Amino acid sequence: MNKEDIIYEGKAKYLLKTDKDDEVIVYFKDDATAFNGVKKDNIESKGILNNKITTIIFNYLIKNGIKTHYLKTLNDREQLCKKVTIVPLEFICRNIAAGSMAKRLGVEEGKELTRPIREISYKCDELNDPLLNDDHAIALGIVKEDDLMYCYDQMLKINDLLIKLFDRINLILVDFKIEFGYTKDNELVLCDEFSPDNCRLWDKDTKQKLDKDVFRRDLGNIIDTYSEILNRLEKLGDL
Ligand code: UDP
Repeated sequence: MNKEDIIYEGKAKYLLKTDKDDEVIVYFKDDATAFNGVKKDNIESKGILNNKITTIIFNYLIKNGIKTHYLKTLNDREQLCKKVTIVPLEFICRNIAAGSMAKRLGVEEGKELTRPIREISYKCDELNDPLLNDDHAIALGIVKEDDLMYCYDQMLKINDLLIKLFDRINLILVDFKIEFGYTKDNELVLCDEFSPDNCRLWDKDTKQKLDKDVFRRDLGNIIDTYSEILNRLEKLGDL
């Protein structure tokens, strides 16, 4: 990686320029942050694991008809992706109450939900990514109504596909966060990553947490945890 190619530095990834103006390289760093950057660490090889896990998940979603920014994995830490303009919303899907929602609403973590919950928050570090409703997002001009509905629809499709995938490796998909962006041709596609940094995965039998909560709540070793997810996914072979 060349430092002079960096277009943008995020909390866990760099975006690097390529010689094509509609393609970028996503570089997975080892940095771990939680609570909007208040807790920080550098965990050797986390980026490599997240690159591998995202590669498997994105390829599976693409095979199942989901449009994404992903083009190909270049090496241990880098993916070639379509350049996108990000919709400044975090799309969160919840199947089981946990984390901020359980806390905010005073419900027990682990409570089953009668249907998936769709949540959006405004991507803004200074404001701590505040929760929005659809009217806020549309009336403030953050996203067009049709596009918001399309993203929700894609998120629920992704949820169905991933619940099934993780079930095959004895994991419960508790919740996850995804992002969408517009390509040069104005197509709305899934972007960013899908890794244990952005989702909650619990072992079906033991309910052991196998995701970033291990880092947030000091529950154990992140590398062992993320490797366990990767190993289970790799055992499935071609998806
Ligand atoms: N999440 C994320 N980035 C964020 C906030 C949340 O990837 O900035 C993910 C998180 O890992 C979890 C889901 O979205 O899988 C729901 O997170 P929650 O709102 O419960 O917040 P948290 O407890 O992570 O603060």
